[in-house]
Amino acid sequence: MMLVDGHGRVHDYLRISLTEKCNLRCNYCMPESGIVLRNKSHFMNADEVIALAKTFVNLGVKKIRITGGEPFVNKDISQILIQLSQLNVDLSITSNAVLLSDYFELLEQLNIRSLNLSIDSLNEEKFNAITRRNLFDTVIKNINEAIHRGFKVKLNVVVIKGVNDDEIVEFVRWSIREFISVRFIEFMPFDGNQWKVDKVLSQKNMLDIIAKEFKLETIQKIQDEKNLISRNYKIEGAKGSFGFISTITNSFCGTCNRIRLTADGKIKNCLFSNEELDLLSALRNGEDVTSIIQKAIQSKHAKNAGIDFENQNYKNRSMTAIGG
Ligand code: SAM
Ligand code: SF4
Repeated sequence: MMLVDGHGRVHDYLRISLTEKCNLRCNYCMPESGIVLRNKSHFMNADEVIALAKTFVNLGVKKIRITGGEPFVNKDISQILIQLSQLNVDLSITSNAVLLSDYFELLEQLNIRSLNLSIDSLNEEKFNAITRRNLFDTVIKNINEAIHRGFKVKLNVVVIKGVNDDEIVEFVRWSIREFISVRFIEFMPFDGNQWKVDKVLSQKNMLDIIAKEFKLETIQKIQDEKNLISRNYKIEGAKGSFGFISTITNSFCGTCNRIRLTADGKIKNCLFSNEELDLLSALRNGEDVTSIIQKAIQSKHAKNAGIDFENQNYKNRSMTAIGG
């Protein structure tokens, strides 16, 4: 069985959020006060995560990414990863790296080799200001350890004009020295993050900054993947690469294969969609979860959930409550 939407796109990649909570407070993602905490019963427990994941795998999902909030804040994560790793899927994790050092051995045992780690600044003060916590040293140490242990590390950098655009070149230099893939992410609008189009640094702006520093002929385009999320480049002779996740100025909707499952068990057919369907209640009530998943996929819009960011009063959950 396959999940195909009304635009002919096969959906075989699921992102599961394990929690809305986080040990950082990145100002573009989380309100300073955190999110409104709800009783545990609103969220999937480990068994429910596995049950829903299995349903998706039966519907043709081949790749699962674990995310959050901060996924390692979920106390059951080890048990969840152990069980997910027994399914026939490519398993990966997105994390802020704060708690990563406690899990290296487990990840190695389970052969989970692909880690997307977030870091928006290489300057301690700035990093701590963005995340509203003082954990720069821990994060850098854990990212370096992940690289040196041979994990396939992608570094997520959300670029905001006037905040960290002056560090783009520094991040590209890091990709020359190490086998990492730096992904510059265009700033996206979510509830309470004071998004404005003039704070977005486009892929084009970022490439211009890079081209000023490195000779144009040394910047090489890497062939796009089938379901691309980032458009990738490398500097000639570099160990690693860099790329752009340009959801705002050059979206990837045409080849989108992504489905999201929020920590409270709702299926979201697009990061920007408000039309969520409740799989967790259905599972608990013994209803047919498969048909709800199919309905959600069939109703997917062609692009950005049908939203025009600049011209509409757009409302969505905050990113930490969606699952990035
Ligand atoms: N806590 C984990 C982390 O930070 O990697 C996983 C969840 S986080 C929501 C997933 C990714 O979404 C992170 O790389 C984060 O930087 C990105 N993100 C959050 N808010 C964003 C925004 N407004 N625009 C662009 N990316 C955003
Ligand atoms: Fe937490 Fe990740 Fe959001 Fe930062 S981006 S507040 S680390 S969930």
